[in-house]
Amino acid sequence: MLRVNLGRLKRDLLELGAIGRTPEGGVSRPSWSDADMEARRWLLERIAAAGLEARVDAAGNIFGRWQPGRPVVMVGSHIDSVPNGGIFDGPLGVLAGLECLRRIREEGIRLRHPLELVAFTDEEGAFGGFFGSYAFTGVLKAGDIPSIRDSKGLRIVDAMARHGMDAMRAPEACRNPAEIRAYVELHIEQGPVLEAQRIPIGIVEAIVGIRRYGVTFRGRADHAGTTPMKDRKDALLGAADLILRGRELVLALGTEASRVTVGIIQVKPAVGNIVPAEATLTYELREQSGELLRSLAEKSRALATEIASARGLEVSIQTILEIDPVPAAEEVKAAILAAAEELGLTYLRLPAMAGHDAQVVGRAAKAGMIFVPSRDGRSHSPLEFTADEDVEQGANVLLLTLLRLAAG
Ligand SMILES: [Zn+2]
Repeated sequence: MLRVNLGRLKRDLLELGAIGRTPEGGVSRPSWSDADMEARRWLLERIAAAGLEARVDAAGNIFGRWQPGRPVVMVGSHIDSVPNGGIFDGPLGVLAGLECLRRIREEGIRLRHPLELVAFTDEEGAFGGFFGSYAFTGVLKAGDIPSIRDSKGLRIVDAMARHGMDAMRAPEACRNPAEIRAYVELHIEQGPVLEAQRIPIGIVEAIVGIRRYGVTFRGRADHAGTTPMKDRKDALLGAADLILRGRELVLALGTEASRVTVGIIQVKPAVGNIVPAEATLTYELREQSGELLRSLAEKSRALATEIASARGLEVSIQTILEIDPVPAAEEVKAAILAAAEELGLTYLRLPAMAGHDAQVVGRAAKAGMIFVPSRDGRSHSPLEFTADEDVEQGANVLLLTLLRLAAG
């Protein structure tokens, strides 16, 4: 049976992992940074050295193609990173994909459908995230591009112009979905589930949807000493109530994969001897069922309103982010499952709790994801690690999955 060459894949992972290296042992390769550019040049060289046709599209997405024709079976992920992130998040999917194409080419295997490797631009969000996959699937509109900036205010238009690219032309990267037979992404789990259960392969059922709200409670600023407790309209108490009761609500009505997180809270006037007049918090829900996500969102909003009226406060709720869950395509899941069984590997069906290019591509074409264990569930950190054996097994499942999808 055909297998990947682990030694070669590991060398690639370590070589790419040395680009943008941080003193802590992680990598910093935000999209369009010097380190990202060096990584792009390195990848293009590796693609050419593998005998594949290398190409960069108008959004900066990098491709490596094996054999002409359509529709194509695509494999990939991203090579940009968060600041001081790990070396596996993204590169594993790209480099294992490269290794699969190399092995198939070396063996001279004839397939019904061509194969294409892809590394999408800015998955991690230096410029908001998914720039490449949004452009590739036609979601990115020219009118939105001038206002896309990084956290320091640098416009993506200027960042790309530094490297001789015109960001305004990125929508030209849009590919007709009819040309894509399937997209498969191998990725580290970034969570603790597979490791805890000692299962080498995760088959992603769905990529979770997200609802993020900005909730503002308004009360009244008063003297912290002279205002009796019963006369106060303390906005922060409304926020505190929502944080605790929102958690209870999600624990009671959600599934094990439901999440609620308050990551930011701001108080005004933020003075130690003044009763808070205003408290704004971010309230983020994640869930893989669209129906349940909508229901949790509605009940959370109703809860915020109920808390405000019980405490004599006003509340306003602003939607910050609305991403619907994307189920993995049945055909891709079945191919992954058959590949794992062929290799005699145990597997677990699980949701992807983080964002991935597969969720963007999955709205336009059949997409699926394979997860491999992350040590201690750590990711977006220099401590991110996946053992050689898990890398090898995941890459072999990817290889057999691609063969199945490209043969049929
Ligand atoms: Zn990733």
